[in-house]
This record gives sequence, structure tokens and C-alpha cells, in this order.
Amino acid sequence: MQITTTINETKELIKKWKKDGKSIGLVPTMGFLHEGHASLIQKCREENDIVVVSDFVNPTQFGPNEDLEAYPRDFERDSQLCERIGADLIFCPSSEEMYHDPHAFVSIDLLSETLCGKTRPIHFKGVCTVVSKLFNIVTPNRAYFGQKDAQLALQRLMVLDLNFDIEIIGCPIIREEDGLAKSSRNTYLNTQERSAALCLSRAVRTGQQIIQTGMDAEQVLAAMRAVIE
Ligand code: AMP
Repeated sequence: MQITTTINETKELIKKWKKDGKSIGLVPTMGFLHEGHASLIQKCREENDIVVVSDFVNPTQFGPNEDLEAYPRDFERDSQLCERIGADLIFCPSSEEMYHDPHAFVSIDLLSETLCGKTRPIHFKGVCTVVSKLFNIVTPNRAYFGQKDAQLALQRLMVLDLNFDIEIIGCPIIREEDGLAKSSRNTYLNTQERSAALCLSRAVRTGQQIIQTGMDAEQVLAAMRAVIE
């Protein structure tokens, strides 16, 4: 497995692989990898000749008072996990390597006021920007995203709208035994918050069961809200 930190050396490797006719899969991550990321990397391994994992805590998707500095990092553990699954390359650039000052943004206005955009106004803009840059650097045939994050829908929209010739593959959410979605940020939770967070997966399950009884959307929403409250 190779590790690159610069855009140029990454492009060189990709150029060589493409010349040899290899298909390329990309798994964009912010590192501190867990079984959720591993499932994406595994699927990417099964479907492509070359597996590229990006490991980059992207500053442009964090708001001014968010957890950019505190975001958990452990590159040594990440690289061991990637190696175990059989990734070919980890691309882990610095912020300075990825962004000039000033730099361009890619944004999809439609989503700036819905989903996470409602409470994190610049989040999706930062996500679209970094993923576009990764798409241009790695030029993958396929890119893998978890269903855990709204960015899956965003990326489908983005490749369509900006004519990226890349297949977006959505992967199921990997959960802890009690239902909590695995997440790098779960390390922030104390015991009480950890148990409160379960209301989300419980609400989703409740919604799933109620939909099957044929109730309408309003009734499903009301039942899910009741679980969360
Ligand atoms: P992150 O490192 O949190 O930015 O996530 C990188 C990718 O891994 C995104 O496409 C996430 O949706 C995906 N991912 C993170 N956690 C999970 C999980 N528990 N199950 C499936 N995919 C996940």
C-alpha cells in the first residue's frame, strides 16, 4: 500500500494505473476509521482494480464554532486498517496542500437550507468542494459513500449536475449492537448522551414498522417524533 501527501504524486500514480487499464474506486473519509468506513473500503476492494482511500479532515466543511480542532485523528490505526483490507493508496494531504487562499467553492444552493444544511449553513458547500477536488485528483470510476450521511444524496446530485463521469455507490449503515450508527464522533459522547443518542435508531425502526402498517406520512412522522421526544 502506498501513502501520498501531495496532489502531484497522487496524480502521477493514478496516471500510471489508468495507463495500465485499471479501474479505480475512491472512498473519501475524514479518518479515525471504524467498521463503517471498513465496509465501504471492502466493497470498493471487491469492485475495482485499485482502491484509493482519502484521509483528510476537511476544514471547509466545519463552521467557526465546530469541532475541527477536536476531531479525532489516528493515522497509524487508519493505515493499518486500510492495509488489512487491501487498499492500494491512502491520500492524506495537509490543508495547505488542498486549499490556496483564496480558493474556489462548489456549492449546491438547493441543499444549503435542508437536512444538515439547516443547522450547518456552510457544511454541504465544504463537502461538495472537497469531494469535487478529490474527484478531479483521483478521477475514480466509482466512489463509495455511506447511507449514514446526507452527503450520499448530495453527491448523486453533484455528479449529475456537474457531469462527473463517476458512479456513486451507496453503502448500508453499520451500527453498534444496540442500534447506534458507528461514527468517529461517538467518542465525544458521555454515558448519558450515548444512551440518549439511541432515540434516533429507535425512531427510524419505529417509522419502518409503522410504514408497513399502511399509515400515512404524517402519522409516521408523529410516531417517530414521539420516540425522540
Ligand atoms: P466520515 O469519515 O465520517 O466523513 O465518513 C466517510 C464516509 O464513511 C462517508 O461516506 C460516511 O457516510 C461513511 N460512513 C461513516 N460511518 C458509517 C457507518 N456507520 N456506516 C456506513 N458508512 C459510514
